Parts: sequence; C-alpha cells; structure tokens
Amino acid sequence: MNLMSNFRGRLKQYFTFKDSVSKRYGNGLYVFNYHRIGNPADTEYDPNVFSCSVDNFEQHLRFYKSNFCMLDENTLLELFRDKSYFDKPYALITFDDGYVDCFDYAFPLLLKHNLSAVFFIVTDFVDGRELAWWDKVAYLLKNTTVKQVQLPHWSKSYPIVRSNIAKSIKGILKAFKDDSSLSIKDKVSFLEQACNVDLPQKVSLYLSWHQIEEMLTAGMGIGSHTLSHPILSHLSDLEQMEELASSKVKLSKALGQTPTLFSYPVGKAGTYNSVSEDLVNKLDYQLAFAFKGGVNTQLDMSLRYNIDRVSVDGDKSVEELARFIFKVI
Ligand SMILES: [Zn+2]
Repeated sequence: MNLMSNFRGRLKQYFTFKDSVSKRYGNGLYVFNYHRIGNPADTEYDPNVFSCSVDNFEQHLRFYKSNFCMLDENTLLELFRDKSYFDKPYALITFDDGYVDCFDYAFPLLLKHNLSAVFFIVTDFVDGRELAWWDKVAYLLKNTTVKQVQLPHWSKSYPIVRSNIAKSIKGILKAFKDDSSLSIKDKVSFLEQACNVDLPQKVSLYLSWHQIEEMLTAGMGIGSHTLSHPILSHLSDLEQMEELASSKVKLSKALGQTPTLFSYPVGKAGTYNSVSEDLVNKLDYQLAFAFKGGVNTQLDMSLRYNIDRVSVDGDKSVEELARFIFKVI
C-alpha cells in the first residue's frame, strides 16, 4: 500500500512537473548569462558586474533543472546540427569575462548539481595580466578625491557621488561605451589623470590558465570573448580580426582544444556589426552569443551567430527570476 501510494505520488509529481514545464515556458532556447558571483560590497572594483550571491546562484540552478532541459556545449552543438526547431524549453548557462568567482563559487556548485556552463574568456585578463577597463574605471572612481570628472573631449562632467558610487560608476561607464571618438585605452588614460590615482599593476581578479584547464577537464565549456573586450563596432575590420582570431589561437594553444563558441563583448545592438558576424563565420566559430535580452524561438541559420541571452543580475531570488523570465518571453 505504501509502495503504491508512493508510486502514485511520484506519478502525480511527474505529471505536475510535465504540466508546469509546458505551461510555464514555451519551447525555445533560454540562455542565462552571469558575470560575477558573490557580494558586490566586497570588491574594490566594479560592483555592477555581480549577478547574484552564492546562495541565490545555487537556487537558480535548482530552478533551471526543474523547468528546462539543460544543455552543455556538446548538446547545444548537437541541437543546432540535428534539429530544425526547438521541441522543448532548453536552457544553457553562460558566464562572461572569466572572473575568478567562476572557479571559486560557480564551478563547485555546477559540479554538485551535475550541470555544465560555458565560460567566455577574455584572454588578456587571464592570470590577471590586464585589468578590465570597467574595473579600472570603477577603481579610479572609488579611490579618487575629486568630486566630478570630465574627459577633455566630453561636453559635460559626471558627478562622483560617494554615497551611491555604484550609480556614478554605471553612469561614467555608459559614457565610455557611447563614446567612440577615442579608444578605451585612451579614455582610461585620461580618466587616470583626471582622478589622480595609480591603477594596480597585477590583480587576482580573473581565472588563471590552470583553473580554466581544470574546468574544461571537468566538463565545462570554454569559449572566446575576444582578446581585450573592446566594443567591436568601434574597431576597424583589421582590429576586429585581431581580437577574434588571436583570442582563438591563445585559447587553442593554452587548452589544446579549439574553441567553438564566441560571445560578443557587451553584445547589445550596435556593439557589434556585420563585420563581426562575418569574422565569427570565417574563423570557424560554430555559434556566437549576443545580449539583447530575449529568448530564442526559431532554430535557423540566422540564429547561429546571434543567439540571444538574458542577463541574470540584481541578486534575484528564484521567485524574482521566474517573474523576470516571464517578462522577457
Ligand atoms: Zn563581457
């Protein structure tokens, strides 16, 4: 009797699950992207790149497993090779930029829940040889004593409000992204002078090659996110080629395996162009990920170099995450 009621209970649970899957989320490819995991109050750098706390990340993993057919790099590639439409709600977890939190927090939890994710690496950042430009900007603004900044060619100044430094950082980073008249390197250099702060020379903020190798061996996917994380549409064709080709060579040499996946830095409309898409194709990347904030419903060739992702940020609880997904679909 007990066995029977147990079985009935499990059967009911199964159908409730099947029901909830079909009712909740339509067929398609849902790609959930993260950057950093942890507490933004603990960093000397950009607090806006934290996706969620370690606890919430683990809850997100449980939620994805109960609601989606989870993919890894290989099953994702198979899907594009073998199918012409999405027959289920599929989901993939990705991480951009290659912060060390990926190894310290995300990787053990992914293993614990028998899940994989794809980590997109900026090869210049590996081993902390170079600090991301947004982290440089954040460090300068957090450590300066000046109250506002204006680069020489800007028509307006931006306040640095110490009580809400995250918002000030966000505003100045937006000005950096919108301004294509100078290279990011030159803009950072002007900001360094304006803030009168020295940047740290070497940081342990990003993954090491050793850590990336360990993650790859354990079944995680590793893709390219360029050499230096520029806004590709601001570059010449040749400079774009260098960013996409050299990062692929570096990953291949370091890991003994050619990366098949690429994600466009920033990835919003206007931050990459048809040249970027052509280069991804010519350089033999199989798939490329954008960041326009939607769900992919059509499985066709046009999706191959424009797979959309949603950004998981703001330390969402599972309930907030579920509501957020409903909003974007
Ligand atoms: Zn990025």
